[in-house]
Amino acid sequence: MQLTNNNPNAECLFCRKEITEKSFCSTPLFSAFYNISPILPGHSLVIPDKHYESLFELSDDELSEMMVFARKITSSLKTFFNCDGFDWTIQDGVSAGQTVPHLHLHIVPRKPLDLPESNEWYKKIQQSEEHILDSENRARLNEKEYAEITQRLKIACASINE
Ligand SMILES: [Zn+2]
Repeated sequence: MQLTNNNPNAECLFCRKEITEKSFCSTPLFSAFYNISPILPGHSLVIPDKHYESLFELSDDELSEMMVFARKITSSLKTFFNCDGFDWTIQDGVSAGQTVPHLHLHIVPRKPLDLPESNEWYKKIQQSEEHILDSENRARLNEKEYAEITQRLKIACASINE
């Protein structure tokens, strides 16, 4: 995705070019990237490149493309991180805990006993919402680690767009 200085959403974290450039896989309309401060190994996000705030702004075709893409990404992440389950979370609207007003789907691959309580991911997602990609308070990958995992996931997901 290319953004110009005329981009009306330059204030939006997910509309910034430096974010979408970090994606490890994309379709013409959607991008997947790794969370720099993952709540569990594999925690990734799928976003529309276009600035949509809500799932309800997607056309049926876009929604379908997003879900099909996210399912392929999830499958690759499960294999890559050797997981047998996953959580998907969309927080749509401020009252639902959405903090970045740009639609994003959290994908968290899961394995047995990865968290003390298996439903604890929800609380962690909420914390992650508050510090998406930019947490000073949580363990965070450094630039080199982030580039490395993105590169490895790029290879793991290479067949998705074939
Ligand atoms: Zn945006």
